[in-house]
Amino acid sequence: MNIVITGASKGIGFAIAEIFASNGHSVYLNSKTPADLGKAAHQLKSSFPNCVIEYMAADLSKEDEVHAFTKWCLSITSPDILVNNAGYFLPGTIQTAPAGQLAEQLNVNLFSAYHTTRAILPVMIQKGIGHIFNICSIASLQAYENGGAYSISKYALHGFSSNLRLELKNKGVKVTAVFPGAVFTNSWAGSGVDPKRIMEAKDIAKMVYAASQLSAQAVVEDIVMRPLLGDL
Ligand code: NAP
Repeated sequence: MNIVITGASKGIGFAIAEIFASNGHSVYLNSKTPADLGKAAHQLKSSFPNCVIEYMAADLSKEDEVHAFTKWCLSITSPDILVNNAGYFLPGTIQTAPAGQLAEQLNVNLFSAYHTTRAILPVMIQKGIGHIFNICSIASLQAYENGGAYSISKYALHGFSSNLRLELKNKGVKVTAVFPGAVFTNSWAGSGVDPKRIMEAKDIAKMVYAASQLSAQAVVEDIVMRPLLGDL
């Protein structure tokens, strides 16, 4: 299968790329910083020399860069799976954060997925098969302390995912929303949180991979995951 993964240079996106490549699939990777993406792709190529591993850096918070990335993807592959994972957390309350923070969070956490999906979807619909994963968050399901704009953007991504699921159920294309609680990635490095208190990126990747392995007539709509001891 051909898997397109955004935000794949590190963290959850990298772990998802790794599990698909380790199972012999072809991966098409994006993230924003070219050097980090090149390093991640090189690491995967060393580990899985027989796999197709292609990559293109683009800032997916910008619509024109989404179009450049998706055009590149469609010029070299016919995607079977799209993982909308690119995103980040900005701390701040609704009342006190800079006014532009909500737009910034929506651009990276919602519109990147919206524009990428709209560009790649026609190929899946034409094939009558496909699977879209949207990496939402526990903050898509409940308010998040000192993360107002982030939580709003992740609620919106959840809404995007649910509507997409409804639209695509008769077209052979599956949609899965993934709602992780805290996962030890860059976002948590330096926070002082014990890595063993929260989840590993590989935990999320294993569930995404498992959900991609079902029969054509079955879909996992939601994957909700939390650290064993609960949210922080
Ligand atoms: P991470 O380790 O910081 O990785 C984020 C990835 O997204 C990087 O590859 C980054 O590339 C890329 N990215 C960020 N902005 C981008 C942009 N504008 N265009 C293209 N790529 C961009 O973060 P993570 O913790 O794995 O998070 C991945 C996703 O999971 C995010 O959507 C996050 O909200 C969600 N999530 C994380 C947690 C958690 O606790 N870690 C919990 C719930 C949900 P650059 O480094 O080059 O910018």
